Amino acid sequence: MNKILNLLLPRFLTEEVALHDNGDHLVIVCPMTEVKPGERFHAVATMRVFNLFGRTLLPRMVSGPWPWPSIPDIEPSELPPCPFCEGPPSITVQSFELRGPVYRQAFYGCAGVDIDAYVFCHACGAQGPQYENVIFHEVDYLSAEVEAARLWIERSAKHRDLYDGSAADGLTIYPRRGNRA
Ligand SMILES: [Zn+2]
Repeated sequence: MNKILNLLLPRFLTEEVALHDNGDHLVIVCPMTEVKPGERFHAVATMRVFNLFGRTLLPRMVSGPWPWPSIPDIEPSELPPCPFCEGPPSITVQSFELRGPVYRQAFYGCAGVDIDAYVFCHACGAQGPQYENVIFHEVDYLSAEVEAARLWIERSAKHRDLYDGSAADGLTIYPRRGNRA
């Protein structure tokens, strides 16, 4: 029902579109929502159009054009095994909002998708630190994966002072002092 209303209601719509440079000027290829993962065009822009019974009239560029988001050239790095069980690590990108995994796609809508990316152990489920961001384009998805990998690789001794503080207070030995016979 909503879909039919969307199509029929005469009104202004704003959407992000892919643009192709034909050598002379930029032409609209399609809405970003229809671009497939890995597909590349020359530019992106936000257009405002008047929707009249499913036809789009009076297109006007409201922002852009910006160059097509480019995938950074990153040196591949190897994920070390799980620190608990030495199992194989795996990366996942999840959305609390969408209640599940987010997959690689060209565009995530004008509002983007709020994600958490992290490495987890396939064998025991242990998780690495989470990388949080709002992603809009494929390139944001790919960099979220890279950040999750970096956080897993660069796990460090940054909280060692807290452990040492606990140990000094006798809090790392069980049974606790008061519970021993
Ligand atoms: Zn594990």
